[in-house]
Amino acid sequence: NPVIVAIDGPSGTGKSSTSRAVAAELGLSYLDTGAQYRAITWWMLSNGVDVNDPGAVADAVDKPVIVSGTDPGKPAISVDGLDASGPIRSQEVTAAVSAVSAVPEVRARMVAYQRSTTAAAPGGIVVEGRDIGITVLPTATVKIFLTASAEARAARRSGELNGALSVAETQDALIRRDAADSGRKTSPLAKADDAIEVDTTTLTLEQVVERVVALVEE
Ligand code: C5P
Repeated sequence: NPVIVAIDGPSGTGKSSTSRAVAAELGLSYLDTGAQYRAITWWMLSNGVDVNDPGAVADAVDKPVIVSGTDPGKPAISVDGLDASGPIRSQEVTAAVSAVSAVPEVRARMVAYQRSTTAAAPGGIVVEGRDIGITVLPTATVKIFLTASAEARAARRSGELNGALSVAETQDALIRRDAADSGRKTSPLAKADDAIEVDTTTLTLEQVVERVVALVEE
């Protein structure tokens, strides 16, 4: 049976770096579901859809063609054939993505896509997100839930943004996005009962990867 690894957790816990490294080490495909929610958000913003109007977002949900690459060595995402990997990381997209991803029609479309990508991955896949272990792939082989202290998460995110925001500003933004992600009715972020929690606060990336690989190989 193909190995299916679900990696969930809030932002700044090292989810993407960990997921890519685990997939590369185990020879698995890789899917970044956060990038998909960001891509659909980028399309909405670029096409004049009011992201705070769930009805307008729902009406437009099928319009963009979103294609995710599954090579952990070179994560790729395109929208209507255009490379979206740069623009989906903008502040505008980051600020709007929680609202867009709260719309049930958006989640339904993304979850269906994520399941078909997983089914099509020949040797297995690492899928990272918020709701993978509970909603997208409840029968995953291994479920990991990454956590880290708010300070560690903000420091990592600030580093990824090359200091464009201070650690304090980054921490504020993260806390706001966590609240938006977990406070809403369709809250995607939750730990599955059978997920293994890994606190990355004091671990290096290599240590986290080693631990997750060991859990998969168990
Ligand atoms: O992982 P990343 O920070 O790129 O995710 C961006 C946003 O996409 C999250 O803040 C959340 O609102 C949404 N998301 C989601 N479900 C997922 C992955 C991401 O709702 N499985």
